[in-house]
Amino acid sequence: MKNRTLAIIVPCFNEEEVLPLTHQRLLDLLNSLRDDARVGEESYILYVDDGSTDGTWHLITGYCLDKSARGIKLTGNSGHQHALMAGLESAREEADVMITIDADLQDDVNAIVEMMSRYDEGCDIVYGVRRNRSSDSLFKRSSAQLFYRFMKAMGVKTIYNHADFRLMSRRAVDALCRYEERNLFLRGLVPQLGYRSATVLYDRHERAAGSSAYPLGSMLSLAVDGVTSFSVKPLRLIFYLGALFLLISLGILVYVIVALCNGRGVQGWASIMLSIWFVGGCLLICLSIIAAYIGRIYTEGKHRPRYHIEKYLK
Ligand code: UDP
Ligand code: MG
Repeated sequence: MKNRTLAIIVPCFNEEEVLPLTHQRLLDLLNSLRDDARVGEESYILYVDDGSTDGTWHLITGYCLDKSARGIKLTGNSGHQHALMAGLESAREEADVMITIDADLQDDVNAIVEMMSRYDEGCDIVYGVRRNRSSDSLFKRSSAQLFYRFMKAMGVKTIYNHADFRLMSRRAVDALCRYEERNLFLRGLVPQLGYRSATVLYDRHERAAGSSAYPLGSMLSLAVDGVTSFSVKPLRLIFYLGALFLLISLGILVYVIVALCNGRGVQGWASIMLSIWFVGGCLLICLSIIAAYIGRIYTEGKHRPRYHIEKYLK
């Protein structure tokens, strides 16, 4: 009989349509793990309501009547990553091992069994990795691929096709909690912890019900967070761009001098206009990259709390 406590952490933002099904599946799984004596009786599912405006919290309140479920209600919408942290920070007080999974059943609940086996073998972190993305729309698939490539090019270490479905031991979560940044990108942070890890492959399903809360804007801002919190490469790229421009302008200077010596004055209105706009555009892009970093220094410097808890139901 293994007495370790497992906490399955589920962030929820307006998930009333899918939550009943998710709860049933997770509960079945938890019970079978208990029956097989793979986790202790105290194990539980922890729902983190990230400021839902529909009936999500009402549903969670009902589930919490049973000792298998607990609920945290955040005071507002803090975002997926912060909701995950709220769950992990609270669960690590009692749980020995924690698994985070989305509420929409896109991740295969049954992969948790294999994750526990890897944990038994001594891994502190087990990443759930999608075997294929055929259930995602073409847009989501190609944008995701672009994202992973871009992250790699920027020198950020991420696990390909792994989102936030992962197992972490308590000491790994303790280590994670020592990172105090506000611009959270867990997929980049967790591999930095360096604990022994493994991956478990699973087939990604379509959302069981409801709709994705990650529109293009949020996906882009997650990508920008990912790059700016882990890499200063974009800042260095500005230098190379500047050097290139200097070289080009030197070339133009040589051309102008030669043309003048040959008595062919350069009249080119068009070339001047083009240069002004081209250089102006490049400068603005570079400024915006610097601004992205300054913006992050600004938010990090304030050390504001990542979330606030309104209620905790046990
Ligand atoms: N989520 C959250 N806060 C948010 C947005 C999403 O807690 O502000 C939760 C959501 O309920 C789900 C998970 O994060 O459990 C992933 O969201 P979603 O399925 O919308 O993202 P996708 O799978 O489309 O990337
Ligand atoms: Mg989803």
